[in-house]
Amino acid sequence: MNYTVAVRSLCEFTARRGDLDLRFTPGPSALEGMEGHAAVRSKRPPTYRAEISLAADYRNLHVRGRADGYDPDLNRLEEIKTYRGKLEAMPANHRALHWAQAKIYAYLLCRQLQLNRIAVALVYFDIGERTETLIVEDHEAASLEQHFQQHCDCFIDWADQEMRHRLARDAGLDAMSFPFPAFRPGQRDLSVSVYKSARQGRHLLAQAPTGIGKTAGTLFPVLKACPREGIDKVFYLTAKTSGRQLALDALARLSAQPQSSVSTGIRVLELTARDKACEHPDKQCNGASCPLAQGFYDKLPAARQEAVDLAFLDKTALRAVGQRHQLCPYWLTQELAKWSDVVVGDYNYYFDTTAMLYSQTVNNAWRVTVLADEAHNMIERARKMYSAELDEACLIAAQHSAPPSLKAALTSLLKAWRKSYRDQESLYQVYDGIPKALHNALLRASGIVGDYLADHQSATDTALQTLYFDMLHFLRLAEVFASHSIFDITLLPRTGRRPSGARLCLRNMVPAPFLEPRFAAAHHAVLFSATLSPCTFYRDTLGMPEDAAWVDVDTPFRAEQLRVIVQRQISTRYQHRSQSIAPITALMARQYRHHPGNYLSYFSSFDYLSQVMDEFARSYPEIPIWDQSRAMQETDKDAFLQRFQEDSCGIGFAVLGGAFAEGIDLPGRKLIGAFVSTLGLPQMNPVNEALKDSMGSIFGSRHAYDYAYLYPGLQKVVQAAGRVIRTDTDVGVVHLIDDRYAQARVRRLFPRWWRVEYADQTMDEGVLIS
Ligand code: SF4
Repeated sequence: MNYTVAVRSLCEFTARRGDLDLRFTPGPSALEGMEGHAAVRSKRPPTYRAEISLAADYRNLHVRGRADGYDPDLNRLEEIKTYRGKLEAMPANHRALHWAQAKIYAYLLCRQLQLNRIAVALVYFDIGERTETLIVEDHEAASLEQHFQQHCDCFIDWADQEMRHRLARDAGLDAMSFPFPAFRPGQRDLSVSVYKSARQGRHLLAQAPTGIGKTAGTLFPVLKACPREGIDKVFYLTAKTSGRQLALDALARLSAQPQSSVSTGIRVLELTARDKACEHPDKQCNGASCPLAQGFYDKLPAARQEAVDLAFLDKTALRAVGQRHQLCPYWLTQELAKWSDVVVGDYNYYFDTTAMLYSQTVNNAWRVTVLADEAHNMIERARKMYSAELDEACLIAAQHSAPPSLKAALTSLLKAWRKSYRDQESLYQVYDGIPKALHNALLRASGIVGDYLADHQSATDTALQTLYFDMLHFLRLAEVFASHSIFDITLLPRTGRRPSGARLCLRNMVPAPFLEPRFAAAHHAVLFSATLSPCTFYRDTLGMPEDAAWVDVDTPFRAEQLRVIVQRQISTRYQHRSQSIAPITALMARQYRHHPGNYLSYFSSFDYLSQVMDEFARSYPEIPIWDQSRAMQETDKDAFLQRFQEDSCGIGFAVLGGAFAEGIDLPGRKLIGAFVSTLGLPQMNPVNEALKDSMGSIFGSRHAYDYAYLYPGLQKVVQAAGRVIRTDTDVGVVHLIDDRYAQARVRRLFPRWWRVEYADQTMDEGVLIS
């Protein structure tokens, strides 16, 4: 059996030495990089060969890669690198890595073309100046072969270890049994669907009720499928930290396998954001600034070995390894992703613009399974990833602090910026595209600022750096601007008669085109959540393929456990709010008196919440109440939830879609009912109307309203109502307060197991819990 390794990965493993140093980054964007390569190629003769696939075996290694170019007239292999700033500032260990790669490509080419010698060139293309610097060396094929073999020899022990690990892992996963005495109701159905889809290499959208154990119900089948499908890695991605912990707990149980003599041996890695993992937030990621970046690559081999031996690497274990070896835990984690079997982290590690797990998957041709938990959050999260904002205040702050050499570029950017909204009459306006003059000014300014920052690595002008990174993100998205996004300008509050500025936004509406390649790169992906209906909405907007499978797992709960009562005599529309307050408070009091216990009452906004709460407190002072407030700290949230005890009584007031409307677990008598005084529809405002227009133009006008308003709204309602029944012994009541809940198109979005009643048709005033 051969171990396959890409030239780049091989060299990153064998040829990196010295400090971690991010001062030469960010490098050019992907598009700039491609353009740089094209610019170099355009200057080459017609005989020039680009992107040459090469491979060779050495002992049990299969090394493959793609050389940038070969000029047969000069018999010269070229490795092209694009950069910004001063080439002299490039750290020596970066250069050494480039040579290592170029010389391995050169050897592979000599072998393919039967050459005895070859010229090897590093071609550095300056994106700003559009000039190239060539560094050329002549090499005999024999010496290149030696170089190739040396690198392979340095890697081969590790490759052997990896192959042994893979065999043991696969044997362990084959023998692995479900880590609980039995599947919960519904959990087996979910697991079977996930397993089948993994075996078919078909993506899956799975709606499965809360409480059936979705985490183990998805991880177990994909791990079982790994040996049979040759899956290299499983990425378990979540929207929230709490979801990550559940996955780590499940993986700990799956790894332990107390009933089996065979260990699964899986390597588990938790990814943590840089700001949470960084040990020196006041420093920069280079050896001159941060002690944990000093000699990073020299210390890495020992730390890497210890880490893979430990196998289970959550945040705490990683930090301990980092401390023992005096190296940065954040960058160590990035390295370990290559050698792990299951990686647990936020969605952004696979789905974001510069997602590390995605780029490694593509670069290393890994076969991966992607599990996305609470996937109903993905639309909003992905929209944020593929949107970019530029604030005029940021530009002005940077302009004030910038050195004289940058003033002209920033001033002309400000001029183009202000011109772009000079004739705007409303506070918010959507434009057909980014004005050309503004786009050009941004390109010019970002180039000049980028060069300046590259030349002044120790500059600490945060306003300038913030503006630079914002401009880069904006320009990256501007490069791919299309109907999936809009460009809009919001005028910010006026001071006197003049506007104080404007915010420019490239606002993604439909993330599908960005996520499609992510799904295409995965062998298998499962998006799962308790609320993923209608599946076409999620499939269309998230870019899952047409043939993605769908499963709606039956709930383990019985209809008798939950009374769902529609209060259609009340309207919660904005214009009827004041009339709705008295009937809502009366209903809540009636329900509470009839059946005292803990309730949650949800509203569309904090304003509506306080209006109803004030009235309730005035009219029913004897009933305990507590409320969610704006910008609550973690301790306040805990205190809010602590009010819900088995033997306590009262009503918590909260906003729909907020911290208490999903992801909280209040089983038994901790929560016996909920009132939902809203349909959850996003506020009708210019941005949401623009979203509706985009949905209409992409998916057809008949879907416009549903995709922009109705489905996102009802998803929140069902999530909130889902707080009431958490186990098969819970009983409770949900009051859906609005006449529109009686509409057929709204009702068809309710969970199938709900048995809906109308308050005006019930015999018991619609308040009883059976
Ligand atoms: S500890 Fe912080 S500053 Fe130092 S290398 Fe790591 S992330 Fe960078």
